[in-house]
Amino acid sequence: MRVQEKNGSGTVSWFDKLVVMTLPLAPKPLVKRFARRYVAGETIEEMLGTVRRFNREGMMATIDVLGEFIHHKEEARAAASQYKEILAAIARERLDANISVKLSQMGLLLDKDLCYEVMNDLVATAAKHHSFVRIDMEDSPCTSDTIAIYLKLRKQYDNVGIVLQAYLRRTLGDAREIIKAGAGHFRLCKGIYIEPRPVAFRDHKLINKNYALVLEEMLKNGAYVGIATHNEELVWEAMRLIDQYRLKRDEYEFQMLLGVDEELRDIIVGGGHRLRVYVPFGKDWYAYCVRRLKENPSIARHIIKALFRRRSAPIGRK
Ligand SMILES: Cc1cc2nc3c(=O)[nH]c(=O)nc-3n(C[C@H](O)[C@H](O)[C@H](O)COP(=O)(O)OP(=O)(O)OC[C@H]3O[C@@H](n4cnc5c(N)ncnc54)[C@H](O)[C@@H]3O)c2cc1C
Repeated sequence: MRVQEKNGSGTVSWFDKLVVMTLPLAPKPLVKRFARRYVAGETIEEMLGTVRRFNREGMMATIDVLGEFIHHKEEARAAASQYKEILAAIARERLDANISVKLSQMGLLLDKDLCYEVMNDLVATAAKHHSFVRIDMEDSPCTSDTIAIYLKLRKQYDNVGIVLQAYLRRTLGDAREIIKAGAGHFRLCKGIYIEPRPVAFRDHKLINKNYALVLEEMLKNGAYVGIATHNEELVWEAMRLIDQYRLKRDEYEFQMLLGVDEELRDIIVGGGHRLRVYVPFGKDWYAYCVRRLKENPSIARHIIKALFRRRSAPIGRK
């Protein structure tokens, strides 16, 4: 993901801004200690350990290989083959997990045809393993191309789904079009990129209202939705709709990010709902964690505090 910071959905105090600005000064090993909460390690084996644990606790997973910008077509193919390795491991261990993929990592910004070709191959591999590919949504310049590639893939495969972002003004229309095309398999989230006001709602109350509106449009039209939020008001709204439309347990799922509000996660699972945890892992953990910390400066504060505690420790003390 690129250019990510907290969107307009919350006020950020001067202290939080200071914390976020100071973060790059924190030594990597210190950030790594906090990273453990948000990232399932650097290797496939470490990630599999986390997924096994969630499965044992009755939760599903979706796996994201953390990747920064790619500059060459070969990098797109390399990223896809890493995902294929993961699909094979999921099948071998019979894990209840699928994969989440960013089209920019699959070459969208280099060559759209290449991106489609790489995705076509990846979704075909997932189908062979009876697995599923979720296409993450990136910033708004990617939205139309992402939807176009998704709809093209759906003409051949039904084991692929897309993400829509409730903060985009266009999303209700996109949801309707995709449902009309018979491709209603969504994850609905708020959206995480900084977008211009003509493109995206900024007021967090409006984003929540639009989330509820789009979610209802999806559910009442029989779409499958991964309800991706840690916002308890939206979880409540989702449960109200699930009840109103008398949805069966396997007709929707909740989704949350690894390490975020585990108490709410347990409440949802305890209520008998299915829940999928988004499990990122990989060598590019640092950039991902800095973003998570920027979104929740209260956690970042602990790092900065630890940083100063270390620096101000009396000389000679271990
Ligand atoms: C499974 C999943 C997949 C996602 N996929 C995408 C995607 O493809 N594209 C995209 O643009 N966005 C994606 N997102 C991010 C999403 O768009 C929001 O930015 C994020 O979930 C915060 O919105 P919220 O609905 O949780 O509500 P908020 O009201 O923003 O958050 C509720 C509370 O949760 C906590 N919280 C929320 N997010 C984080 C975090 N990341 N780190 C620490 N604490 C946090 C905060 O303390 C906050 O008080 C995804 C989110 C989830 C859960």
